[in-house]
Amino acid sequence: LFAPEKFTFDLPGLTPYIHTNLKRAETLAGQRRLLRKWTENRERLHAKTRQSPEEIAAWQLERISFLVDYAFSTHPFYYRLYKNAGFKRGDIVSWDDYNALPCLTKADIIENFPLFQCNFGPDETECLISRTSGSSGKMLTAIFDPAMADHDILHCLRFYEQMLGRPRASDEWLYQLYLVAPYFTSLNGNYPIFTVSQDCPPELILAHIQRLKPAILTGFPSTLLRLGALVDNPKDLGIKAISTNSEPSTKAERRLISEAFGVPVYDEYSSVELCLIATECGEGKYHIVEDNLRVDVLNPDSTGSGEIVATALHNSFMPFIRYRQGDQIQIQSQHSACSCGNCFRTLSTFMGRTDQFLESRVTGSVPPDRLMALYDRVLLTEEARLSEFQIVQTAPDCVTLYLVPASGHRSVDARTLRRFQEGLRELFCDPNLEIRTETVDAIPPGKSHKRRLIENRIPLEKSCR
Ligand SMILES: [Zn+2]
Repeated sequence: LFAPEKFTFDLPGLTPYIHTNLKRAETLAGQRRLLRKWTENRERLHAKTRQSPEEIAAWQLERISFLVDYAFSTHPFYYRLYKNAGFKRGDIVSWDDYNALPCLTKADIIENFPLFQCNFGPDETECLISRTSGSSGKMLTAIFDPAMADHDILHCLRFYEQMLGRPRASDEWLYQLYLVAPYFTSLNGNYPIFTVSQDCPPELILAHIQRLKPAILTGFPSTLLRLGALVDNPKDLGIKAISTNSEPSTKAERRLISEAFGVPVYDEYSSVELCLIATECGEGKYHIVEDNLRVDVLNPDSTGSGEIVATALHNSFMPFIRYRQGDQIQIQSQHSACSCGNCFRTLSTFMGRTDQFLESRVTGSVPPDRLMALYDRVLLTEEARLSEFQIVQTAPDCVTLYLVPASGHRSVDARTLRRFQEGLRELFCDPNLEIRTETVDAIPPGKSHKRRLIENRIPLEKSCR
């Protein structure tokens, strides 16, 4: 098997920061299967983005009609949900029929998880399991079968070519600064991916990029901002395009990244449950990935904005049908062809992505990616005995951690809490930071509909920003 971790050149210090695939062993057969899917579908995938919205909608409805019947027939949770709603197989003929189906939330899945699991059968060892807190604080285990995971990768491969504005040569590297390695690190040696932790010292990352010369760089915007500040000669890096993901970023921040690296930056909106939701194009529009999922706005207000409700079109294994993810979105009402050539509908706004930066009395702004890496490592583990949490800062010297113990437990693991507190003080470079922990039955809902996992509630007059 092709091993990206061998490409460290003369930088042995990089090794501890390289992510390799631990969740599921990569096989040559799996890589070759995916390569075949990509080479055989590449043109069709690009052509799909040029279909008219009417054509796409008709295709989506047909797929959804089949998926709903399938879930009703094979999936205990959906059987019960739809039976209670009076649904019968074959009922989905129009969008009104689809819109009349009940929705489900993350809490519905968590509460009924055994019903989601009993459908899985003996193939579970082959599956990809992701635990997500998303941007709400609830833990959900999302399970994908290999077919679904392949679809996700195909959509990503298409996005990279949209970013490059041309076909990607099979020896062009993708460089990821992220929390975990992807399902595949190459397709039989083609389209290789190198994944480094966002905690790796920026100087080391840049030295490595200079040697590897990847065509595409992806990562948290805050990591890329830190990295960009150190770039002297962007041409030396070989990067052609950058994408940002997993964390809120402003247009101004992405412009800074673009200027630092001298290449265009494209943002991506995705979630563990639904994978790629929308991708930014050269015109700054967020195109919904219409052949990955159906997106609608639930109960839109007078401006057309409201909660996203979506159906993952390729997931027959753990179906997400009319799934309320919690984000606020607005779909552009007047559909006009985008000059980038992509005819998929666009989002005019998505997520209320602010107030996620906490602040330290010592170092100033604390980037969300650092905080995410900490809670990923410490709080999102089985040993933590935690079902939900929220990190709230109310004053520059005080952070409160709200905790909901996992069902059957009265408290959260004490060692976990100590590790989190130590990690947080280290992140803030503030040994005297006060960290309160409060065990609650449920996380109190915030101002926005969506619960935020990290929230800065420091009153403006006390803020050091
Ligand atoms: Zn466009």
